[in-house]
Amino acid sequence: MTFPMQIPFNNTYAQLPGHFYARVLPEQAPSPRLIRINEELAQQLHIDPEWLRGPEGLAMLSGNSVSQGSEPLAQAYAGHQFGNFVPQLGDGRAILLGEITDTQGRHRDLQLKGSGRTPFSRNGDGKAALGPALREYLVSEAMYALGIPTTRALAVVATGEEVARQEGMLDGAVFARVASSHLRVGTFQYFAARQDVVALEALTRFALQRHFPEALAAENPALALLEQVIEVQGSLIPRWMGLGFIHGVMNTDNCSISGETIDYGPCAFMDSFHPKCVYSAIDRGGRYSWGNQPGILVWNLTRLAETLLPLISKDDDEAETLATNALDRLGRKLGDNYHQVFSEKLGLPTEGRISRENDAFIRQTLTLLASQEVDFTHFFRRLTQTVSSEEVQGSNLAALFKNPSAFAEWNQAYQQLTAPSGARIDAMRHSNPVLIPRNHRIEEAIQAAYQGDFVPFHRLADAWQRPFEDNPDYADLQAAPEPHEIVRQTFCGT
Ligand code: AMP
Ligand code: MG
Repeated sequence: MTFPMQIPFNNTYAQLPGHFYARVLPEQAPSPRLIRINEELAQQLHIDPEWLRGPEGLAMLSGNSVSQGSEPLAQAYAGHQFGNFVPQLGDGRAILLGEITDTQGRHRDLQLKGSGRTPFSRNGDGKAALGPALREYLVSEAMYALGIPTTRALAVVATGEEVARQEGMLDGAVFARVASSHLRVGTFQYFAARQDVVALEALTRFALQRHFPEALAAENPALALLEQVIEVQGSLIPRWMGLGFIHGVMNTDNCSISGETIDYGPCAFMDSFHPKCVYSAIDRGGRYSWGNQPGILVWNLTRLAETLLPLISKDDDEAETLATNALDRLGRKLGDNYHQVFSEKLGLPTEGRISRENDAFIRQTLTLLASQEVDFTHFFRRLTQTVSSEEVQGSNLAALFKNPSAFAEWNQAYQQLTAPSGARIDAMRHSNPVLIPRNHRIEEAIQAAYQGDFVPFHRLADAWQRPFEDNPDYADLQAAPEPHEIVRQTFCGT
């Protein structure tokens, strides 16, 4: 017998003024079935995993019952989509059930994605297909295990209902997402577009309280907020790049205030390296390619800065100067963090000032990988093995290159740099994963799931919890795709 469990919701967003959101109830799922729950995360949220697995947990996760204390709502936000401003987007297929203080005292949002229409749905059905829900589960949890700030996956439930998508009728699903908040650059843009300075002030206070409470006492809270977002996002994007991650839709509504990676749509991890690599089928101009991501972040945070100008100073010129100075620091921060990430990956010294020599070497390395179409993950992993003598297989690394003399030339340059040892080898081990969520594996698992076979999905979810371990059970998941397996395009699936 299960007992009704109270989720200790503690909702602060619902206390903001009414035009910040729309109160809305999730739609009913005809015959919900649990696919997977994340027990470790449930425990962090004071939710009993056994309860969550049971009928009441399933009713909550599918949207079929609203738990006590939950105040479901859809958040309003705007955003630039591929550079075009849309003054109203909002949660069109997501409903915030409420907030929970986790075991570490942090405020977390619990949101259902795909639980039906809201006032922000426009022409959409508010639903999610199983494939994108499984994809978000796998990739967000893998990102977490890879040490990248990200929203988390609490559960995925099949609804028993079909949804109409371009590919035809697909099984529907609800994805339960946990985030430190769902505030986006687009949330600020929503109120700025309405010239609602009072709302912007309330939102700034809310964001500082939630994410950067130490900055609440700052002399200029709006500037402090901008600086904090610059700090967290300026560290996030270089870390994506160090894993070959391409978000795919870095629209301002998918750029979080918390610095967590959010919205896993047509995202992908690169197999063979190229800085212009793009997977998203809708990104025809390469706006969100691997190498464009820092520039896009600067663009997105410039949009954030614009929304904050009236709060930064009543004097327009002063506001602009302060914001511009902060954004200049973002450019430098991105450069420094990128340098740090790739120095670690290559085992180069990271202490002290940025060395021009290392910078040039990083560039030389990536140019070589691109021209030789080398698998990004294999290169750095094998380099780690080679320098740590885990396997004495220098040839293993060389084998990745089509042109042996190009490798030899690079290797000679590498040998001339100070050889990594001790802490630097440890850093390489922690920044060069054995496993990444390869696209062809995700696709394979999604296709199997549509056929009713969830074994591949669960296997990937298990394997990707320990991406730095060389586990022989998952040796096959290390492999790059065979030519016929390569996935060249990914889709939003909305
Ligand atoms: P995204 O590209 O996933 O970040 O979504 C952009 C906007 O489209 C957001 O406002 C979403 O809520 C909305 N949206 C995406 N898919 C759907 C859907 N199936 N039904 C309603 N709204 C949607
Ligand atoms: Mg989005």
